[in-house]
Amino acid sequence: MGRSSKDKRDIYYRLAKEEGWRARSAFKLLQLDEEFKLFKGVRRAVDLCAAPGSWSQVLSRKLRVKESSEEVKIVAVDLQAMAPLPGVTQIQGDITKISTAQEIIRHFEGQAADLVVCDGAPDVTGLHDVDEYIQAQLLLAALNITSHVLKPGGNFVAKIFRGKDVTLLYSQLKIFFSTVTCAKPRSSRNSSIEAFVVCQNYSPPEGYVPNMSNPLLDHSYDVDFNQLEGPNRVIVPFLACGDLSAFDSDRTYPLQLDSEKEYEYLPPTQPPIRPPYQQACHLRKNNLLAKEDSPSAVLDGALSTMNL
Ligand code: SAM
Repeated sequence: MGRSSKDKRDIYYRLAKEEGWRARSAFKLLQLDEEFKLFKGVRRAVDLCAAPGSWSQVLSRKLRVKESSEEVKIVAVDLQAMAPLPGVTQIQGDITKISTAQEIIRHFEGQAADLVVCDGAPDVTGLHDVDEYIQAQLLLAALNITSHVLKPGGNFVAKIFRGKDVTLLYSQLKIFFSTVTCAKPRSSRNSSIEAFVVCQNYSPPEGYVPNMSNPLLDHSYDVDFNQLEGPNRVIVPFLACGDLSAFDSDRTYPLQLDSEKEYEYLPPTQPPIRPPYQQACHLRKNNLLAKEDSPSAVLDGALSTMNL
């Protein structure tokens, strides 16, 4: 696929390069903030599953404004390494580990965060049930970390897959936050089951002790909170966000958007560092990949195994 054809395919991918964002997902957080005013008064923010770092970029650009930028602390966590960003401390770690929560708390010098965001996604397998299940587990891991680091009254935003068991997740989140909304930014493709839960006003149950166990499996909360049947089923509001006149992420736009300005290809703002596919690319470029056996060689091999 040529360079420009990729640009043609996705308008937010192109806009991200034009505006210097590392990934198109930056627009999702920007559009969520337009709707929910998530950044208002935020001094300490955590970006879980942050690489390559476009959400951290948004936090860095939006929170570190003018003279107060010294007071702002942003921590970004990811399994993968990430190129540095101004005012962002990186932790290369796993969000399912208590040690990661402890490291975040150390960085905030014992103070709690005002906002936790998580755009975490596992490597999708294409098997929808499996993908939805793993995504839900990642969200719950993010919720566990959040319960260690977020201040009461703080906000939590996380990617969610709106699969068939999503109401179970909503009811888990409703245990910890007084308001939970499912939001779909305009930059998130309609064709994708991805959406974002915007959880406002952190207010854990009295006596709740933060831990890293999976709340889905923790039946001690079932009696009071986990009422999923009939009228007790938790239904959260759904909100499409982002200006209706904003670009539609499912549409294809012409390369030359502005009739005055000629289209110019821009390279990605931050190419991946040490991506897992790097070795495969090296092997392919140097013709070092293992060769498929020719059909006759396969037949010979099979015959010799059968001792014929
Ligand atoms: N928000 C990012 C941005 O705007 O650049 C994009 C995040 S990307 C869609 C999902 C990230 O989740 C990947 O970088 C992946 O390494 C990370 N991830 C998945 N599982 C994780 C885990 N257990 N701990 C930490 N990061 C994880």
